[in-house]
Parts: sequence; C-alpha cells; structure tokens
Amino acid sequence: MFHKILIANRGEIALRIERACREMGIPTVAVHSTADAEAMHVRLADESVCIGPPAARDSYLNVPAILSAAAITGADAIHPGYGFLSENASFAEMVEAHGLTFIGPSPAHIRMMGDKIAAKAAMRSLGVPLVAGSDGELADLDEARRVAAQVGYPVLIKAAAGGGGRGMKVATVPDELDEAWHVARTEARTAFGNDAVYLEKCLDRPRHIELQMLADAHNNVVHFGERDCSLQRRHQKLLEEAGSPALTAAQRDALGATATAALSRLGYRNVGTMEFLYQDGQFAFIEMNTRLQVEHPVTEMVCGVDMVREQIRIATGSPLGYGQADIHFSGHAIECRINAEDPDTFIPTPGLVTAFHAPGGLGVRVDSALYAGCVVPPYYDSMVAKLIVHAPSRPEAIARLRRSLAEFAVVGIQTTVPLHQRIVDAPEFIAGDYTVHWLEEFVSRH
Ligand code: ADP
Repeated sequence: MFHKILIANRGEIALRIERACREMGIPTVAVHSTADAEAMHVRLADESVCIGPPAARDSYLNVPAILSAAAITGADAIHPGYGFLSENASFAEMVEAHGLTFIGPSPAHIRMMGDKIAAKAAMRSLGVPLVAGSDGELADLDEARRVAAQVGYPVLIKAAAGGGGRGMKVATVPDELDEAWHVARTEARTAFGNDAVYLEKCLDRPRHIELQMLADAHNNVVHFGERDCSLQRRHQKLLEEAGSPALTAAQRDALGATATAALSRLGYRNVGTMEFLYQDGQFAFIEMNTRLQVEHPVTEMVCGVDMVREQIRIATGSPLGYGQADIHFSGHAIECRINAEDPDTFIPTPGLVTAFHAPGGLGVRVDSALYAGCVVPPYYDSMVAKLIVHAPSRPEAIARLRRSLAEFAVVGIQTTVPLHQRIVDAPEFIAGDYTVHWLEEFVSRH
C-alpha cells in the first residue's frame, strides 16, 4: 500500500479523495494556491504545500511545483482528481518517471482517449457502435461537405481535443457548414492548441448515457452500470441519475458486456467512463473519460462501492477480487451539481459565504468544501457542492431531493439551488422523459 498520497486538486474532489485515504489509513498531502490557503481541502489533509499564485496555470497546473511538493513530503503516489492534470498524459508520464505512482490509467490510454478521433477509431475496431460521421480527421471543408451530405443534416463539427462542451459547432443546413467549420477550428486551436476536427451526425433527441468502468492491472474488467447525464446546459452536465429512467436491466447488461469486452482487449486499467448517446433503442459511443468523474457518487450510492478506494487499490497492483456477478444495483440515486452562479443568468458569484447549512438525513450525501466563513475564489470552476440522494425507487429519490434542496442554505453568495428546485418539480423530469436538449429549452422558458 502507498505510504502517502499527494492530491493534485482542490475543492470537493480533493476532500473526497482525502476521505477515502483516511479510511484506508493513508496520510495525505494537499497542494494549494495562495488563494486556497484557508480552503477545506488544506485543513483536512495531513500536510499541505503551497504550489503557486491563484491562476490555475501557475498552481494546480504547475507540474514542477507539484512534483517538488511530492518529493519534499515523501509522497509515493499522486491522485489527480478530475479536471486540471487528470487527463494530461505527459503529466502521468512525468509522475512515473519520478518513481511515483499515478493513480489512474496508463499514459498511453490517457493519450489515446484524449484524442477523440483516435478514441473513436479504437472503439470502432473493438466493435463498439459509434455515432455516424467522418472516419477520422476532416482534411478540408470539401470533405466536411461530402460527409455531411452522406449522413444528413444537422451535423456537428467537433474538435479532436475537445472537452467541457467546447470546440463543438452545429450546422443545421448546408449553408451553416462553412461557419461551423471555421468557428470550431478556431476555438479548438485557441482552447486546445490543436485544430483537428471531425464530423458527427447531430442526433435530434438523444439521451447521454455513460457506463462506469473499472479494470485492474490483471485484465479483470467490470462495469458499475449506467448514469443518465442528459440534463445539460451548454453540453455541461447539471444533474445525473443512476440508473437511467430510459433503460432496462437487459439493455444495461448488453451494453456493459460490449464495453467490458472492449476495455479488456485494450488492456485498460483503473477507472474510465464510456460515454454514449442513446436514441431509438440504439447506443452510439461518443468519447471516453480516463479519470474519476464528477458524477461518480450516484454510482457509488447504487452499487455500495467506494470508487476512489478501488482506484487506489488497483494502482497498487491489487486484483479487483470480484467479478461482474458480484456487482448489484440497489435503488436510485440522483446528483445535483450546485454552482456558485446566479440561477437565472448563470453569471459566476464568487465571494464570502457567511453561513452554510447542508441537508442531511437518510440517503442524503453532500460533497462540498464549503464552510461558513470560506471565500469562493473567482479563479476556478464554479461548482461548489454536489447534493446526492439515494432511495429505493426513483419517485422516492425525487421526493428526497426536493426535501433536501429546500434544506440547503448557502448565505452570502447565490447558487443554482433554485434552478434545481424548478427542475425537480418539472413534469418532464418527474416522468423521466427528457433528452440532452430539454434543459436548455426549460431554462429559456422560465
Ligand atoms: P465534451 O468532451 O466537450 O463533453 P462530448 O463529445 O462528450 O463533448 O459531448 C458532450 C455533449 O454534447 C453530449 O452529452 C451531448 O449532449 C452533446 N453531443 C455530443 N455529440 C452529439 C451528437 N453527435 N449529437 C447530438 N448531441 C451531441
């Protein structure tokens, strides 16, 4: 087992990892920017090291500072959390080159899946169904026109290096393709330093359904069922459920069998999430994330498994010790991502939190680094809390969510709690009848 784990992250996910480490008896090192000196993840760690000024590029993305922090504290492993350096293959390589363990997949798999064109090519060769589109990178606008005409409009031009909903442009008719092509490439070049793009048919009413995968270093691969992450704004998830209201157990098993076979042939290791669009009874792979996801708690609640603990165990070389038949699903879980944002305009609302009260009770989990008197800095992602509820059935989970949202109190800054309260009362949400487009329409109506 590891002697000490450095957590290269901040906020709720750093706390989440500290909690798993503490239960496993592993001391932790927090790293932090000067803006986060008083942050909860620093207070709850065994040791902490300041790695730079507020801007993420100078601190949480500052690889030499993070590696030095590991060296001076004697950490022997690094957990990257999500975001920041978690899907940076070069960082994973550097961690290993320094004799430390990177708690995550191999650098080669991180690199492969970070390039969505390479990821789709790998999945195609492994027999995983894909969204119709170009076979690979588009050479020029003429090729984009040809492929678009073949698959039919609307189409999406997507950046190979895209993420977080950026670098994706829709063309609903041929006249819009020229602009979509140029805007997507410019955005991709600016945001990711890589302007390779590909084309996909834009499905009109898909659900986003993803599978939580886990693999050990001995080629045992399992899945922990699906999450429905269709409630999105600007292609960013806001609320997630396990399982999906749209899927039967038989469909889950079939998709799970395809996915585990694919990752087993790849020789994949540690956690991963395979993302699919689901429409008219068909699944189509869109991308794979090679890290812990924000929404992993809904899976933990229905499966009763600590995903971070499993990541750490696997990173030491331990075998899974169980198989697919040992994984059971119990009840229904829903997560709301609560952001420090105006619930109507979505403008970030950093500032001083003067009072904080998290809901509790049976089946309620709050993952948050907020506390009364803390300051939400303006430099980082605006998500400040995750409210997760678990209940025997979906209607009971919704009732619990409604009750918990009403108890949530963050004073001093505005949050998106009121938006979630409106979603939970919407008939389409209650019926489980929504696609990836529903939330945008709902927000514009209210
Ligand atoms: P990112 O890596 O930026 O998150 P993804 O490829 O995972 O991008 O897509 C994010 C979201 O964008 C999906 O969950 C879905 O809502 C929408 N999307 C992506 N591809 C398509 C498509 N081909 N048709 C319709 N919607 C899509």
